[in-house]
Formats: sequence, C-alpha cells, structure tokens
Amino acid sequence: MSEEMTVDVEALQKRNAELEKQLARQKKLATRALANYQQRALQMEIIRQQNEDLDRLAADLAKAKRVAEDHAKEQEASHRLKSQFLANFSHEIRTPLNGIVGYVDLLTREEGSRLTAHGRRDLRTVRRNAKTLLALINDILDLSKIEAGQVDIVEEHVDLRTIADDCAATVSEILQGKDVAVEVDVADAASSLVTDGLKMRQIILNLMSNAAKFTEVGEINVQARAHGADLELVVEDTGVGISPEDLPNIFEKFRQVDGSRTRTKGGTGLGLAIVKELAHLLGGTLDVESTLGRGTTFKLRFPKMVSDAVAKKSSSPVDDWAMPAPGTYTVLVVDDDPMIQQLAKRELETSGFGVLLAGDGVEALKTMRERRPNAVLLDLRLPRLDGWSFLNRVKSDAELRTTPIVILSVEEERAKGYALGAYEYLVKPVEPNVLSDVVKRAVSQGGGNNVLVVDDDADTRELVKRRLESEGFNVQTASNGRDALLHIRHDPPALMVLDLVMPEVDGFEVLERVRLAGQTFPIVVFTGKDLDDNDQARLREGFARSLRKNGGSLESVLGEVCAQVHGHRGTAKKLQRILYVEDVPQNRDIVRRYLNGLFEVLEAEDGEEGVEVAKREKPDLILMDLSLPRLDGWGATTKIKADPEIAKTPVIALTAHSSPEDRTRAKEVGCTAFLTKPIERELLLKTLGEYLRGS
Ligand code: ADP
Repeated sequence: MSEEMTVDVEALQKRNAELEKQLARQKKLATRALANYQQRALQMEIIRQQNEDLDRLAADLAKAKRVAEDHAKEQEASHRLKSQFLANFSHEIRTPLNGIVGYVDLLTREEGSRLTAHGRRDLRTVRRNAKTLLALINDILDLSKIEAGQVDIVEEHVDLRTIADDCAATVSEILQGKDVAVEVDVADAASSLVTDGLKMRQIILNLMSNAAKFTEVGEINVQARAHGADLELVVEDTGVGISPEDLPNIFEKFRQVDGSRTRTKGGTGLGLAIVKELAHLLGGTLDVESTLGRGTTFKLRFPKMVSDAVAKKSSSPVDDWAMPAPGTYTVLVVDDDPMIQQLAKRELETSGFGVLLAGDGVEALKTMRERRPNAVLLDLRLPRLDGWSFLNRVKSDAELRTTPIVILSVEEERAKGYALGAYEYLVKPVEPNVLSDVVKRAVSQGGGNNVLVVDDDADTRELVKRRLESEGFNVQTASNGRDALLHIRHDPPALMVLDLVMPEVDGFEVLERVRLAGQTFPIVVFTGKDLDDNDQARLREGFARSLRKNGGSLESVLGEVCAQVHGHRGTAKKLQRILYVEDVPQNRDIVRRYLNGLFEVLEAEDGEEGVEVAKREKPDLILMDLSLPRLDGWGATTKIKADPEIAKTPVIALTAHSSPEDRTRAKEVGCTAFLTKPIERELLLKTLGEYLRGS
C-alpha cells in the first residue's frame, strides 16, 4: 500500500510539475496576449487620434475654403463696387464739367464781341481749368478701364494729320506766354491710317501736353513717317529733359520725376502709363530718349497701320451745307440734364435744325413715333428706359430703324454703340461745331440712293459702278472686305453689291458681320464662285441674293438693284421677331447683342409688360425669364397661353435657378423649352432655330 502511495505521490508531483509548467506557459501566453492587446489598443488609440486629427483638418480645410470663397466673393463685390463707383463718380463729375465747358464756349461764341478783353481772358481761364479737371478724371477712369481689360478698339479710317493738328491747337493753350513753337509734320504717305482714332488722339495729346508742360523755350515737333505699312511717330521737345536715373521709371503709374509737394508742375503721373498701355493696345511700341537740360524724344512704332485708302467723311466737315429752310430737318435731343438739352438745342439751332427735346427713353420713343425726327442725339444714362434699350427698340422697329442715332456720352463705349447700330458715337466734351457737323452728315446721308460696290477686281468694280451710275444711283466702292465694313459703319448704303472671294476679309465674313451689327439693307452677292450647299446656306442666313458673274450678268445686277432699292426696301420685315422678357438690364444687353441683326428683338422689363407687348406685337417667339417683378414668368406665360391669338407662340423659359420643380412648373404653364443662364450664344441660336423652324 505504501508503495502504491509513493507512486501516487510521485505521479502527483509529476502532474503538478506539468501543470505548473503549463500554467507558466499559459501565463506567458496570457502576458504576451495582454501585451499584444495593449499594443493593439494603443495602435487603435493612435488611429483614433489620427482620425480625429484628420477630421479636424478636413473641418479646418472646409472652413478655410469657405473663408477663401467668401473672400473671393468680397473681392469681386468690392471690385465691382469700385468699378461702379468710378463710373458713377466720374459721370457725376464729368457731366457738370461738360456743362461748364459747353456754356463757356457758347458764351465766347455768342457774346464774345461784347465782352471786355478782361472778361474774355477770365472765360478762357475758366475753360482751361475745367478742361484740366476733366483730363484728370478721365485719366483715372481710363487707367482703371485698361486695368480691368474693359477697353475695346474701334477700327476706323483716320486722318493722322487732322488729329495731330487738333492736338497742336489744344496744347497751344498750355503754351500761351511761353516762347515755344509747335511744328506738325505728317508725311502724305503716313496720314491715312486704319486704327482707333480716339486712342491715337489720346496718345498724341498726352505726349504733346507733357512736352508743352516741360518746355519753356524752343520747339515741340511731331513727325510721322510711313515705313511700308508701318507708322513711325515721333514727339520731340527742347524742354527740361529727364535724367538717366529717372528715365526707366517715368512709365510707372503715379510716378513723377518731381513728386514733391513743392514741385512746380501739376499732374497725376498717370499720363505716360496710359500712353504706354494704349500704344500696346493699338499694337505698337514706345521708346524714349532724353538728355537733361536738352530735351526729350518719344518714339512710337505701329506695324501695319498705314492704309492706302483715303480717309473720308468721318472727320471731315460737311462742306456743302447750306442753311436749310426752317422745318426742313428736326433733331430729337434725348438727355435728362436740362443744361445739356439747352446746350445742344442752341448749338443745333444755330445750324438751322429744328429741335425736339426728351428727358427719358420712354418719352423719346413716343416723340419719335409721333414726330419722326430726321436724327436723334442720344445720351446713355436716362431714367425709365436707358439709352441702350432705347437704341435697341428703335433699331428693332421697322419704321424707325433708319433714323440715324448719334450717341453723345461721357463714357467711351464706341464698340458697343456701333455694334448696336449707332450712326456715330461722340464722347463728351465735343468741340464746338463737331456736334452739328456730325448731325448734318447724319441727316444728309444719301441712304436712299446709295449703293456700295465691293470687289477686289478693279475692272468689275468700275463696270458695275458705271452701269449703276448711268441709272442714277449714287455709287461708292470698296476694294476689300475691311474697307467695306469701315465704310458701312459710317455711311450705311441702301444696298450693297458684294463679291465673295476677296483676300483677308472675304464676302461671307462681310455679310455675317454686317448682319451681326444689325444692318438690314439688302445685299446682292455678285460672284464667279461655284456655290455649294454650305455657301448657299450662309447666304440665306445673311438674307443675301446671289447672282452669277458671266457675260450678260451686269443687267441682272442692275435689275436686282432697281427692284430692291425702288421696290421693297430693306429686309427688315423678313427678320423674325423675338420678345425677351427680362428685368436685369445687363442680361437684356447680352441677349440683344447675341441676336442683333439676326432677329428683331423686342423687350419687356416685367411680366405684365411682357404680356402687353406679346399681345400688341405678336412676336414669333418669346424668351421668358421666370423671376420677374410685378408678374413672374410662370404667371405671364399662363396669361399668354390663355389668349387664343398668341397661345401658339413658343415660349422658352430662361432662368438662373433651374430646380426640377421650376422646370415642371414651367412646363405645366406651357413653356416649350427651358434654358439655363448664363446662356451661350450658340445654344440660344440653336434653340431658337429649332422652335422657329417653319413658323
Ligand atoms: P504727369 O505728367 O501727370 O506728371 P506722366 O506720366 O505724364 O505724369 O509723366 C511722368 C513724369 O515723366 C512727369 O512727371 C515728368 O517728370 C516726366 N516727363 C514726361 N514727359 C516729359 C517731357 N516731355 N519732358 C520732361 N519730362 C517729362
């Protein structure tokens, strides 16, 4: 038994030892598992923290993005505010200043002989000071426009000699009392240019004014030479000169060599910065050389600016103007400023015009319909209906559209003015006589019997010209597309005979650009080109009739011209009519320019007016903004669709917010299609084409 027990004890001890070993192993395992677990927990914690960090980072980023967006919006808003402020502020300053300059001119002219020498001198001083103020404010505005990229170039025929002589006359006022001679030497070959005349004038006037300001004795010389088609223009003086250290800085904004408060010459330091920018805008370069105490030379070079065509009309006065019998011509002056109204009235009456006055766009339209003036002088900022909308309404009205409209504004937006069909665009202040000269040209423009023949082949041109002249037409010619376009802008003919194949700007382009500019006179294409389907379509789009050049075709040209000019004049009635109902002037402006020349655009500024115009004018199609004052677009469409006379007119909804509900509601009230703003021209034209087809 004891032996048995011993065995048991031994076995037990062994088992115990085994168990202990096992326990130790498991303890070790447990410790390792615990360590593992702790490590993983630690890792989890790290990941959690990293996640938290990431979340925070994402939130920070989102916040930063929001801040940046807000900032950008603020910046944009403040930029817009700045532009708007500058535009308004300069308008408010320039308008009364123009009044001052205008009245001083009038007084000098009308009362000059009765004033004492003292009085005349005082008046000259007032005028000079007002002009200096105007120049300052214009500089600031010009530069801000250039910097904002808002400057358009208007190409036109320009007579450089006239511009330089004008500038010389202007600076001679600064030179009074100084012993400085001014000489202008423009070579014949360099006088005729195609460029933006106003900007060229500004460049020369700025350089000459500086020369006059900084020269006490000696000479100021302006010299222009042609090198092939390049123009070289030099403005040289014998004044104080500029030191080599200062020379590199003079083109910087606000930089003046003597910027101290004790300086002897006034100025803002913007003049040369503007000259440089303008020269670049016109495609030219500007260099300067100067020697202190001896003088300064500015040299400009403009490639491909010299033209072989002779500058006509635009700047030349009307020579054969005999004072018309009272009541022969009336001019409507549209301006909300009674001072400007009176100034223009007196100026025009002196040249024999009868004058009607209107203080806002709505009144002006009414007067135009009732009194049918021969020309309109139009300010742009007007109450009720602004000048642009007025211009558009006149140009879309088949009965009024041929009345020449001369814009007279303190703002320089000539490119837009011409594109919308203005006859001429004058920037205030206009020199005395210029106003009445332009109006004389406007009312005496032949129009009715004028035919423009455009062909690069001199023989064909001459042949067509002679044949048409023998039938009593007044014929003008252009030898290329570019000249034709320049010509048309200043003197739209009653009809154009157009060749298609020409170098540079071909006939198709002329056709398109003429129609895009809102000109609707008939165009007869006279061509030797075989026309394919695409060509035919382009001619149809531009409302052009085509005739083939061959042996006996001259007579068919004549027949066509007679029929078009004496028979049904103009293609005005062929244009389909679109009514655009929109309360934001800027949007109206965009669509008006998109559709100009292709469609007749009628406009309404709210839903009520939209319904009224739709009922009265029965347009071919309606573009309807949805959020409108008085009556919204859905309401207006409902009313239109309820009127049996116009219910079938397609209505295309046009809106900035395009939620699915908006679309559904638009469809429910009867809108045919839905376009989202900002609208692209191509898409708009395509959509219009789709819905107008066959109507
Ligand atoms: P502002 O004439 O208004 O001061 P500008 O930009 O036209 O500004 O000219 C900048 C500076 O260049 C002038 O202040 C003047 O010191 C110098 N400068 C310009 N033209 C001449 C010149 N013809 N002769 C001497 N200095 C000139």
